[in-house]
Amino acid sequence: MSKQCKAEVQEKGMSFLRTRRCKRKVYKDGYCALHHPDTVAKREERKEDRHTKARQTSRDMFELIKKLQNRIQDLEEENKTIREENFQLKNSRTQF
Ligand SMILES: [Zn+2]
Repeated sequence: MSKQCKAEVQEKGMSFLRTRRCKRKVYKDGYCALHHPDTVAKREERKEDRHTKARQTSRDMFELIKKLQNRIQDLEEENKTIREENFQLKNSRTQF
């Protein structure tokens, strides 16, 4: 029985299609600690977890941006109203 991990890994810096045999020593079931299905599954789980959190974060950011945009719009409206009021006030002053 081979003492070398049976996983195929991607060649670094080369074409993405190019793979080589993992050189690590067997840890369990013919795989090294890094490529054992249990480890891979756990890693995938963590990755999925990170993705879920990242998705949630971008959703939160989107909500926040939407709220800020609404707030800006409100302030712009308010500003416009104040300016119009000031303008009318000035006009009424010059009239008298
Ligand atoms: Zn391996």
